[in-house]
Amino acid sequence: QAKSLGRNGYACFDSALRQQNEQRLVMLRDMRQALTDAQFVMYYQPIVTMQTRQIHKAEALIRWQHPDKGMISPGHFIPLAEETQLIHQLGEFAFQQTLQTLSHLQQRHGAFQISLNVSPVQFNAKHTSLLKWQEQLHDANLQPEDVVIEITEGLMMQGEGRSQARLGQLIQQGFSIALDDFGTGYSSLAYLKQMDTDLIKIDKRFVDGIEHNEDDLVLCETMIMMAHQLGLKVIAEGIETATQHELLKQAGCDYGQGYFYAKPMSLADLEALLYNS
Ligand code: C2E
Ligand code: MG
Ligand code: MG
Ligand code: MG
Repeated sequence: QAKSLGRNGYACFDSALRQQNEQRLVMLRDMRQALTDAQFVMYYQPIVTMQTRQIHKAEALIRWQHPDKGMISPGHFIPLAEETQLIHQLGEFAFQQTLQTLSHLQQRHGAFQISLNVSPVQFNAKHTSLLKWQEQLHDANLQPEDVVIEITEGLMMQGEGRSQARLGQLIQQGFSIALDDFGTGYSSLAYLKQMDTDLIKIDKRFVDGIEHNEDDLVLCETMIMMAHQLGLKVIAEGIETATQHELLKQAGCDYGQGYFYAKPMSLADLEALLYNS
């Protein structure tokens, strides 16, 4: 039937769709294999204290070391993982790895904090057990406040109220909470306060503009002031230049993250950096 529609372009559309579907299936199969073959790895991007450039924090970012395709970034596989429930296994892997790394770093280098991105799909799922996280934390002999859970504003809009309860539970268990990609969503001031977070992460798109756009600089300064008034610390994301660093430092930003300081790297590379700095 598709053939007879070919002249109108439907067959073409049909086969493009089929191809896309096939690609998804292949990727899904590969991802399952990757979990068994341990092809997923965690990278860590240093977060510096603005004033001193010291590194006592890092963000854990997942990577897929594909045997043929090389390193694949999360933007390419997280969405499909979220659609297919594989996100739960990926999330558990990321959490477990993060705890292991944190414990290792604290033993070798002293005070350290790692932040971890949690998918809203995982966060809001009925069967996700935060008690299990607490147990794992306890088994690893870690303080909950040294694990920072990064969530996005969008997360709170989903999950039929469960997300609020979950977030409350996390806070009660003592985890630190960071609001990721801040400024890109819809949160109001009241909302921010109600969520009881510890940190906000100013999104890269504001940082990008501050050198050349007065408005973006004012926005960043305002977000920083507002956060401080509410007793929150601020991390600026995606800092790529010395000027951005200087401007944000002058604006009183507490922490910085971005290629200007360091890209995400393997644990071995992070350790070398910590050792030499
Ligand atoms: P995110 O949490 O906002 O992470 C920051 C992203 O910005 C990372 O991309 C990081 O490599 C990139 N970045 C940092 N500094 C710079 C810079 O100076 N310039 C530029 N151009 N980029 C910079 P990445 O690793 O590709 O991660 C993308 C997103 O995927 C993350 O955004 C996060 O939402 C998600 N993600 C990453 N790892 C995980 C994970 O383990 N679990 C879940 N659920 N999501 C993850
Ligand atoms: Mg993040
Ligand atoms: Mg707290
Ligand atoms: Mg972000």
